[in-house]
Amino acid sequence: MAIDAHTRPVGLLGYPVEHSLSPLIHNTAFRRLQLNYVYVALPVAPSDLGAAVKGLRVLGFTGSNVTIPHKQGVMPLVDELSVQARAVGAVNTLVFRRLEDERITVYGENTDVVGFLDPLASYAERLHGAPMAVLGAGGAARAVVYALLSTFRPARLTVVARTVERAERLTHDLASYDERSALEVVHMDDAAQAIRSSVLIVNATPLGMSPAVEVSPWPAADDFSSGQIVYDLVYNPSETRLLREAAVRGASTIGGLDMLICQAAASFTEWTGKPMPVEAVKAAVLAYF
Ligand code: NAP
Repeated sequence: MAIDAHTRPVGLLGYPVEHSLSPLIHNTAFRRLQLNYVYVALPVAPSDLGAAVKGLRVLGFTGSNVTIPHKQGVMPLVDELSVQARAVGAVNTLVFRRLEDERITVYGENTDVVGFLDPLASYAERLHGAPMAVLGAGGAARAVVYALLSTFRPARLTVVARTVERAERLTHDLASYDERSALEVVHMDDAAQAIRSSVLIVNATPLGMSPAVEVSPWPAADDFSSGQIVYDLVYNPSETRLLREAAVRGASTIGGLDMLICQAAASFTEWTGKPMPVEAVKAAVLAYF
């Protein structure tokens, strides 16, 4: 569809943004559905974030994604936050809504939560009340831990971290969602038992990401077994060393590409009101790799 005077822009606020797959994902979906939208990556330095959000608001943007380093900084700049965004303490999606009196409000959402959960839907029965472990304690781990606590009420949820203090801040901040006192923090060096006895293991560190594809966040692959689900948030490569080694031991595996596309699909629906054509998008991303 040609860009014309009716085209509705959607942006990505980040710094840097050149590596982002979001323009490919969303423009593929807009074209596939013949929607007159365009998605552009907008590099915005932290000191310019307020001006950028004001700019998008008056320039008629439908919405935007928000990525590193702005996911926290954008929170005071929105008019309304979703429950998930407030709980995780991060926003990855803005929606600009025009009210009846022509005022425009800014809604902040965190679609990483639903994007993480969607690929787990077919395992829900196994996951309710199960013991689990999350490797890493950064921004993605926050969304994952909140999603797991609020959806599956796990019997145990171990945050496995290199920097224990950071993991303790995370568990402290999410304690109000931990109805069963499931949260615990364990240093990476001491986590073998927690990994072996978890039904779900999530990698929320960047370990294994291209170009360091020979690295695994959990190199002791004999700790994996059938009956486990191993979920890697890393999406490039689409099959990481962690997933390959877990699959050889009989575990079910989920790659980060599924989450990447599911979180994008949730943002896409916020902006357009339509479901994303996820198979076409996945094919476009795999062809790009
Ligand atoms: P982040 O905030 O920088 O956190 C990274 C975490 O990994 C921290 O806890 C960090 O530990 C830990 N870590 C980093 N290097 C490590 C190492 N060598 N050994 C042990 N731990 C290490 O990053 P993030 O935003 O949470 O993202 C994490 C990963 O998830 C990235 O690969 C990102 O691409 C991926 N992700 C994927 C999706 C998706 O849609 N698939 C969405 C979001 C994120 P310290 O605290 O000790 O530094």
